[in-house]
Amino acid sequence: MGEKFFKLQDLRGMLSKNGYKMTPQRKEVLQIFFDNDADPHLSAEEVHEFLKKKDFDFGLATVYRNLELLCTLGILSKVNFDDGCTRYELASTDPKAHQHHHLICLKCKKIIEFEEDLLEGLEEKITKKSGFEIVNHEVKFFGYCKNCKGK
Ligand SMILES: [Zn+2]
Ligand SMILES: [Zn+2]
Ligand SMILES: [Zn+2]
Repeated sequence: MGEKFFKLQDLRGMLSKNGYKMTPQRKEVLQIFFDNDADPHLSAEEVHEFLKKKDFDFGLATVYRNLELLCTLGILSKVNFDDGCTRYELASTDPKAHQHHHLICLKCKKIIEFEEDLLEGLEEKITKKSGFEIVNHEVKFFGYCKNCKGK
């Protein structure tokens, strides 16, 4: 717990710090992630669809370019759930924070966030044994969610 994520008001500062200007496209693409906090992992196509519903027709290539820029700035991060589709989610404001874990339901394909790290002991062991310095990890658990389990 305790992960703090980027907010819309952080965008202007992050853009200007890196030599970019605020544009309606950049703002609205990011806004989609705040509008959809129930489903925080969105593909470029999904972001494009949500924008269309709000009467913003930026074109898929523009949406994609802006998503990539928001990743470069560290506001979004890319997640891949092995289904051939790249998704994006809001990044943590703490550069030292490790990625939360993802629980992927094999039946309904729902992706559940699991916020606790719980790997500190394992990380320590790995570092001790191999001298490897761990800065992050990407952990996916595959199985069945509460609703699909036992069906
Ligand atoms: Zn960790
Ligand atoms: Zn399920
Ligand atoms: Zn996530």
